[in-house]
Amino acid sequence: MKTLVDRDREVVWHPYAPPVASPLFAVERAEGVRFWLDDGRELIDGMSSWWSAIHGYRHPTIEAAIKAQLGRLPHVMFGGLTHESAVRLCERLVESSPEGLERVFLSDSGSVAVEVAIKMALQVWQARGRPQRRRLLTLRGGYHGDTFGAMAVCDPVTGMHGLFEDALARHFFSERPTCRFGEPCSDEQFEDFTRLLEMHEGEIAAVILEPIVQGAGGMWFYSAEFLRRVRERCDETGVLLIADEIATGFGRTGRLFACEHAGISPDILCLGKALTGGTLTLAATLASRDVASSLGKGDPGVFMHGPTFMGNALACAAANASLDLLDEGEWKLRVAAIESWLEAGLAPCRSLPAVVDVRVLGAIGVVELHEPVDMAVVQPAFVEEGVWIRPFGRLVYTMPPFVTGAEDVARICSAIHRVVATI
Ligand SMILES: *Cc1c(COP(=O)(O)O)cnc(C)c1O
Repeated sequence: MKTLVDRDREVVWHPYAPPVASPLFAVERAEGVRFWLDDGRELIDGMSSWWSAIHGYRHPTIEAAIKAQLGRLPHVMFGGLTHESAVRLCERLVESSPEGLERVFLSDSGSVAVEVAIKMALQVWQARGRPQRRRLLTLRGGYHGDTFGAMAVCDPVTGMHGLFEDALARHFFSERPTCRFGEPCSDEQFEDFTRLLEMHEGEIAAVILEPIVQGAGGMWFYSAEFLRRVRERCDETGVLLIADEIATGFGRTGRLFACEHAGISPDILCLGKALTGGTLTLAATLASRDVASSLGKGDPGVFMHGPTFMGNALACAAANASLDLLDEGEWKLRVAAIESWLEAGLAPCRSLPAVVDVRVLGAIGVVELHEPVDMAVVQPAFVEEGVWIRPFGRLVYTMPPFVTGAEDVARICSAIHRVVATI
């Protein structure tokens, strides 16, 4: 008889995978911080399903909210119609996000939230009679998604999109910040950013960046002072600031939003991933009053975007439930505890020959290697260790659910140490 993995290999395509994905594991069920494979093996989840499952799997609060919504209104078109779960969610996002963000556009995925943010910035400058401001300034080492607008601001080298270079919009790339998190940022370390902004100011609509933590582009944590300086330069030049908090939003870095580390507010904010606690796909783009009013005063005065599944009620209900859990406030202590466990647990990796750097921020632990890992070897090795860790390139990293306990974090760390020690 064919296994599930055999059947998968005949018809299914996986993320960043060849037509036939390998290695591949079949998951039967999940609960808390664990999931079970179809052969009965139990894995501790070290990835939160790509930053999203912050409360663990099958949290009863989120499950109950989705079920209740299903019995009332699973979805209705958002053009000309609205509903309680969407309005409530947008009110709460405005309330909890950095100051000044007042209007919310809901969409279905992070990449689309980024497309929406870019489109908003371009429409603002058209409305203000400065259509030549239509390019973006971003940082090397960034990742903003896989659609064409988003790809164009991913790191040109690590951004996985080199193949499409000729088809992408041209933007400006400043050096990856060299000042690390917790350190100051000197004039010299900020020089490249200033230079590009000054040189191309008249063409730049917005700066787009991941605040504090660059995720899939290199898992790099940079100085809050760098971010503060970006905000200052944007204020001086009128260039908009788009903060992509799709990975960092909802507590992952120890603050509800990473912008809080620098005490700044962006003009446009992108959210996704953990928004529904990892249950359903939903994203949001928040705009300042200024962005919304400028756009509204232009011609045609409407924002030119509208996904079919915009404001999906099931996803909004899940997001409201996830925010209820965050409102309880325990996440803050839990993330702080995970941070200290990761620091202790990953420290021994520093002396391994394959390792360049070990860094931890909030509930994110990163072991950077000299060479890219061989996934065909490393992935099954982690499964053998009883943990789910999915490295990419030279990065072995973990961002466990916030509800992960000390023992499970220790198991994740010792598995990383043992596997990296064999490299
Ligand atoms: C994952 C991610 C995206 C893209 O989100 P998708 O839901 O995968 O489209 C964009 N920006 C950042 C920072 C991300 O981590």
